[in-house]
Amino acid sequence: MSQENEHVQCLIIGSGPAGYTAAIYAARADLKPVMYTGMQAGGQLTQTTDVENFPGYPQGIMGPEMMEDFRKQAERFGTDIRFGYVSTVDFSSAPHKIVVDEVKTITADTVIIATGATAKWLGLPSEQQYNGFGVSACAVCDGFFFKGQDVAIVGAGDTAAEEATYLAKLCKTVHVLVRRDEFRASKAMVSRVLATPNIVVHYNTETQEILGNGKNVTAVKVVNNKTNVVSDIAVEGFFVAIGHKPNTDIFQGQLDMDDTGYLLTKPGSTLTNIEGVFACGDVQDMYYRQAVTAAGSGCMAALDAERYLAAKEHPVEA
Ligand code: NDP
Repeated sequence: MSQENEHVQCLIIGSGPAGYTAAIYAARADLKPVMYTGMQAGGQLTQTTDVENFPGYPQGIMGPEMMEDFRKQAERFGTDIRFGYVSTVDFSSAPHKIVVDEVKTITADTVIIATGATAKWLGLPSEQQYNGFGVSACAVCDGFFFKGQDVAIVGAGDTAAEEATYLAKLCKTVHVLVRRDEFRASKAMVSRVLATPNIVVHYNTETQEILGNGKNVTAVKVVNNKTNVVSDIAVEGFFVAIGHKPNTDIFQGQLDMDDTGYLLTKPGSTLTNIEGVFACGDVQDMYYRQAVTAAGSGCMAALDAERYLAAKEHPVEA
């Protein structure tokens, strides 16, 4: 296998809104950023349809098209965008070492991590078939499309509880499908769900299939795991809120993370526990998870990287 070595000032890992925004800022600051896109170039938004909540697109835009715009803007200022995945990293000494596609080693003065998080899915073929056509993993993004309609949401954690109450403000009825006989969410969140008149909670209920007419979702087939009774609930929208997995496996043991694998950053910044390594977007944010918040933190990461490099070049005398 060939071994090439290359040194860069700023390496960006990941190509969602956070990565591309970091690239735009880093390129305009002349850091000559190199970006590795990961296997899903463009990130989670390439799997969505309409995006109506990203400022600057008054008519809304399709997710994949928006990510194309991000990419073009990053390229316009000279970002070197490469398709490839980072297989290992070594942050034990500066410059940091990054191995790409298991063969190419790059050293970098700064690394911006924007690898995102992956929504967990139930794993049903019908869920994939109707993804973007009634099935969604983000109520804040897509709830609006189901105004006045009946929807279901699966999950029993804080996200499901929060999204159910969010949906209840827009939708006629929200069916919450809870697989056990209780929620995992905090008491306060559960109380809010139970006090919302147009939310119907179905305990001991598992999703068997999402039903549709070939174009849109029409119902969800559920089974009660205590009685084995199978029934259909008529809905136009089906939301999956069973958690996310941050894409941080390659950073295990090197970067500080919480119990669920989200990278920890110094509050109010994108600084990780390793000098010169910055994290932005969903990989360090389990709460907001929006394209616009990811983009905002991508900007912060590039500014943090730029200031870190400037301080190294011109240290302030004590
Ligand atoms: P969690 O991992 O906390 O919850 C996932 C939920 O999905 C669980 O209730 C689980 O059920 C259920 N689930 C998992 N797999 C399936 C399946 N195949 N079928 C049906 N149900 C399934 O994820 P969240 O995204 O809710 O929360 C992640 C973290 O973020 C938590 O720490 C949470 O507290 C935090 N958070 C906090 C918020 C806030 O404070 N405002 C808002 C949102 C999140 P079971 O309980 O049976 O295992």
